[in-house]
Amino acid sequence: SKLDVKGHIKFENVSFVYPDTGIKALDDISFEVKPGEFLAIIGRTGSGKSTIANLLLRMYDVTSGNIFVDGKPIKRLDIRQYRSQIGFVPQEVFLFSDTISNNIAFGRNKTDKEEVEQAAKEAAVYDNIIQFEHGFDTLVGERGITLSGGQKQRISIARALIKKPQILILDDCLSAVDTKTEEEILSRLGKNMSEKTSIIIAHRVSTIKNADKILVLEDGKIAEQGSHQQL
Ligand code: ATP
Repeated sequence: SKLDVKGHIKFENVSFVYPDTGIKALDDISFEVKPGEFLAIIGRTGSGKSTIANLLLRMYDVTSGNIFVDGKPIKRLDIRQYRSQIGFVPQEVFLFSDTISNNIAFGRNKTDKEEVEQAAKEAAVYDNIIQFEHGFDTLVGERGITLSGGQKQRISIARALIKKPQILILDDCLSAVDTKTEEEILSRLGKNMSEKTSIIIAHRVSTIKNADKILVLEDGKIAEQGSHQQL
């Protein structure tokens, strides 16, 4: 049967130890985010932010506690169907030696030109792309042109958005984008994700000022939790 993810996420007393190193990355984390909400996660390097994303993507199972998606234990969901409804942009951008268009459409069966262009617009990279001589057919990577860090990040965001994900997770992927472009991306996301769940791991305060909820992590624990005004 088809899995329809709505995007209600609940962490209940989640602790996590990386099995290979024995490092305790999360210690008794509880929070909830509902469809339509924008959750921001901040905290120093090594505080456990990416680990929350790893667990949500089910790269690992929790050591103790529970993660629920739409009220169901995450472990019980069909992993392929579940992941197909998550848009994830990792910290380290990965582009293939291929055209910009194929990089955005990556992993999809059919490439619809309009969908690719729409995703590029939503990620605020369309105007850059059409300025290249070959536009969306421009080759990137080893044999192609060299993109700026911010352009790569935005192409990677477009790749996540083309899936029209029910849950979007951005792991610190706006670092190389200037604040004005960041604002444009976030405002578009606010519209596109209005019924869906957005989780943004960030460093800059500007990124999180419109968040419905902010988690401040410290050494794997939640140091503070609330809205921008409450904190
Ligand atoms: P940053 O802001 O630098 O990305 P972060 O807040 O995202 O940091 P995590 O990447 O979640 O922090 O790391 C939390 C802890 O888990 C750190 O001590 C880190 O060294 C460790 N860790 C992270 N990834 C792994 C892994 N794949 N295997 C083992 N330990 C890991």
